[in-house]
Amino acid sequence: MVSGLIKLSLTDLPLKAIDIQESVLTRFHDLLAKGRLAHAYLFVGPAGIGKMSTALAVAKMIQCETPDRAAGQFFCGVCPGCVKIASASHPDVMVTDQGEEASIKIEQIRGLLSRARLRSFYGRRKVFIVRNAEVMTTEASNAFLKNLEEPSSDTLIILTTGAPEANLDTIRSRCQMVYFHPIGVDELAARLKRDGWEEKEAHFLAYYAEGCPGQAKQMREAGIFQKKKEWLDDFLFSECGDDWIKDLTNDKGATRDFLAVLRSWVRDGLLLKTGTAAERLMHRDLGEALTRFAARYSFRELEDFDQEIIKGLRLLQDGFNVRVQLNIIRMLIKRD
Ligand SMILES: [Zn+2]
Repeated sequence: MVSGLIKLSLTDLPLKAIDIQESVLTRFHDLLAKGRLAHAYLFVGPAGIGKMSTALAVAKMIQCETPDRAAGQFFCGVCPGCVKIASASHPDVMVTDQGEEASIKIEQIRGLLSRARLRSFYGRRKVFIVRNAEVMTTEASNAFLKNLEEPSSDTLIILTTGAPEANLDTIRSRCQMVYFHPIGVDELAARLKRDGWEEKEAHFLAYYAEGCPGQAKQMREAGIFQKKKEWLDDFLFSECGDDWIKDLTNDKGATRDFLAVLRSWVRDGLLLKTGTAAERLMHRDLGEALTRFAARYSFRELEDFDQEIIKGLRLLQDGFNVRVQLNIIRMLIKRD
């Protein structure tokens, strides 16, 4: 391993298709077939949208030895080329990111570029992927630029970023931009279900993650679907005491997640009042409780409720303890 190149563990690598944006793969497949693939691309889109998964899928498409094109496959996933990419050991596919550090350093980029000068191991195009390119230091960006100015025909560079404006103009101008958009929430829910997720959880997380597959996966790993039921039950439908609030606010991440869940609940209540079909509500799994909750408030009261939650999220963001704000929110709760 060249120092500075990260070795992704198997679990980091997207083996499931839910992350991959197929329209981008189709586009790259066509460009490859026509010999019109550019030297460098910048994949732009929010975190969890599938930029990295799609970049790795492009690498597999280039390196795959036995894709079944007749079956509509871009790559097989089981040949030595595909398997090596999945285990981060393919000599012609290199991935770098900041790892545990705050930035991508010049040494990492030098390591990457020294590999770019070597002949391709398998005679195919070499693929270099830089994840979250916006965190490259200025020196690292400048070192990288040099390579972009002297493109080599057997190299494909893919940079991913959630903040395109944070990248140097000179980097942006030398890359072709590929924009990633969230997929429809219902489409994502269907994909998650096909992937074996339980129906109610798939629906909630597809909506809660606003169509971002990677975020839905992370939230599932964090157990948000189970937690949200407990939180709502404790806070809205039981007499939650001061200790409950104290315990929650000791964990900033959990407090943020709780406020976000509470906000999504109140917003569902607002949607219900505007006549949105129960089918399209985020908390469809708790439909009855939601209907009862919404019935106790006027539209205006729910809007005020929402505003107090937003205030809590802002205070948290600014580093304040939100215990007092949670008490204010608690006082807004009306019971049957
Ligand atoms: Zn393959």
